[in-house]
Amino acid sequence: MYRNTWMEVNLDAVADNVRKLKEICGKKIIAVLKADAYGCGDSHVARAVLEAGADMLAVSSLDEALMLRNEGYEGELLILGATDPEDVPVMIENSISVPAYCPEWADAVVQKNPAGLKVHMKVDTGMNRIGFKTPEDLQKAFNELKEAGCLIEGIFTHFCCADFDEVFTNMQYDRFADAVELLGHEFKWIHCDNSDATVWFKDPLSNACRIGISIYGINTYTDELRHPISMHTTVTMVKEIMPGEKIGYSSTYTAKKKEIIATLPVGYADGFIRANKGRKVWCDGMECEVVGNVCMDQTMIRLEHAVPLNTPVEIFGPHIHLEDMAADLNTIPYEIICLISGRVTRTYIWHGREEQEENARLLKSTAIEV
Ligand SMILES: *Cc1c(COP(=O)(O)O)cnc(C)c1O
Repeated sequence: MYRNTWMEVNLDAVADNVRKLKEICGKKIIAVLKADAYGCGDSHVARAVLEAGADMLAVSSLDEALMLRNEGYEGELLILGATDPEDVPVMIENSISVPAYCPEWADAVVQKNPAGLKVHMKVDTGMNRIGFKTPEDLQKAFNELKEAGCLIEGIFTHFCCADFDEVFTNMQYDRFADAVELLGHEFKWIHCDNSDATVWFKDPLSNACRIGISIYGINTYTDELRHPISMHTTVTMVKEIMPGEKIGYSSTYTAKKKEIIATLPVGYADGFIRANKGRKVWCDGMECEVVGNVCMDQTMIRLEHAVPLNTPVEIFGPHIHLEDMAADLNTIPYEIICLISGRVTRTYIWHGREEQEENARLLKSTAIEV
């Protein structure tokens, strides 16, 4: 890493969180590592969650599943999103479990010699994303997939409001329980809880919980989790500006008095979006306002006192909480961390030691041949 803008992921804290959540729910843990583990690096987060006792990993697509297989993961692996029936041979060959989620999918899959394909029946209980909407469709697909030799290992649904709506969540659960009963099958995996539900929702039927954002310490119902992720940069230039001077593209900020301005090597191409203008970052004990428009690669902040070059700046972490940043930006923590781009070096703490991710594109390649 040459450019000093990085995201730190403390894998020891990740592992502690998984252990804690497993203790809280008393069920098997399916660690959801979709979207490169919410931007944190799926192969790294995988090591930590597996060491902490996760029983299965889940991702969003066949591409993401194959990436984990290519990294050497041989354990239980479930795709949560849609798949193309054309790819059935790849799913079987790599022992990847997939959701059956609509009649068209099931009808197409049975045409593809799916014997041995590991399937989880996905039931839509109110979110209206993917999943069987009617008991008839569910039963029919179950029968034909079973007949075609699929291994029907699981059944699941997804709560859409487990962070605030107990009534709706219970209604979704009741529909799910009806679906499980309808099929009368011995499922190895029965799962409905996301991170929030893992903490508060208790039921006698499910035997696994799918945890995503709580791996990173974010949960509406417990504050017993650690906060493993933070994002940092360092000061590249400090200057004094006079009253009336402007800052950045479109000169949107005007100094009211003599002010000290620092420049940071972080911008919207790092996922530090333009909406951060006017928000605060943390530097040398100060909360510093982002002044002027955030540029693609750089950002200016106003300091109360001058600092030396290379002084560290926290974008989110112990002082600027990710959840507060999300609230300021009118979004959710998931979106902020998923948008941190590949240009931002990931550093990891693992078994108490720091490791730095080598950016693959800093390694020599001959992709451009002229
Ligand atoms: C993303 C996702 C999860 C994890 O949700 P969190 O709120 O991050 O715990 C679980 N199940 C499904 C189907 C998902 O898409």
